[in-house]
Amino acid sequence: MQIILISDHLAVAKKLSIETAHIVAAIIVVLCIICGFSALFARLSIALRLPFVEHQIVEMKDEDMIAREAQYERNLQALATNVGQLQAKLTQLEGMTRHFSEQTGIKLPEVEHTEKSSGQGGAYVPAPLSEENLHKEIDALSIQFQKQTIALGMLESGLRERMVRRELLPSIMPVKGGARLGSPFGPRNDPFGRGLAIHEGLDFVALYGTEILAAGAGVVVNAGYHPEFGNMVEINHGGEMITRYAHMSALKASVGDVVRHGQTIGLLGTTGRSTGPHLHFEVRVNNVPINPNKFLAP
Ligand SMILES: [Zn+2]
Repeated sequence: MQIILISDHLAVAKKLSIETAHIVAAIIVVLCIICGFSALFARLSIALRLPFVEHQIVEMKDEDMIAREAQYERNLQALATNVGQLQAKLTQLEGMTRHFSEQTGIKLPEVEHTEKSSGQGGAYVPAPLSEENLHKEIDALSIQFQKQTIALGMLESGLRERMVRRELLPSIMPVKGGARLGSPFGPRNDPFGRGLAIHEGLDFVALYGTEILAAGAGVVVNAGYHPEFGNMVEINHGGEMITRYAHMSALKASVGDVVRHGQTIGLLGTTGRSTGPHLHFEVRVNNVPINPNKFLAP
């Protein structure tokens, strides 16, 4: 762009050329001036405490603060509700643990029950609602949950131990499908007519060849022929407890076998000193005969 200036005084024409760069530079200068004035005005407004501007700033700050506080209160309330729900669940958990302990007879360490966990209910909201109180409640909850975890762990190990003991105890009827009691435990007349004798086990009468089962889990410590007991198996169940299965027609276990409760160890027969097909079953603790009925499940 070119502009021609004519001066009366000099009566000569002067030619100016304006390029795009000049226009851009002019715009930048104008913008800088506007920004500078704005900043100066804002600074002066605060420095000179112009009433209108100051009021606007204070109002904006107040609104921001109120919004932040409202958001904080909402967050705190939501957290308190969550804490309340957790406490309600903990109360339930404590109740269930106590009930389970009473039902199973498995003793648990005394747990300090809070007022809230003594059979009452409902969501708990600490009062006054404050961040500090909430932190305290969360810490207390954490400790209570840890105690519950320990109590539940003890219940689990107690039950597991009980299950193992039950597995080991000779509690299963050793004749598959059941049998008729031929001769009880205790004194009786000797079946071979030799007078009063002590019967150290139970005689179960069933069909020849019926499967004979391990009454409890254990290790086979004897499997072979005995002059009086015929084909016989003895199982050690731990704690000096042994079960004896006699007069079998066949053996299905060997010395050293680990058998589970209910596993087939032989077949019913009449070998040894026997008058007919039956199983002679004994339970011995420290080699003393015990009435098997004390262990067999009804
Ligand atoms: Zn017998």
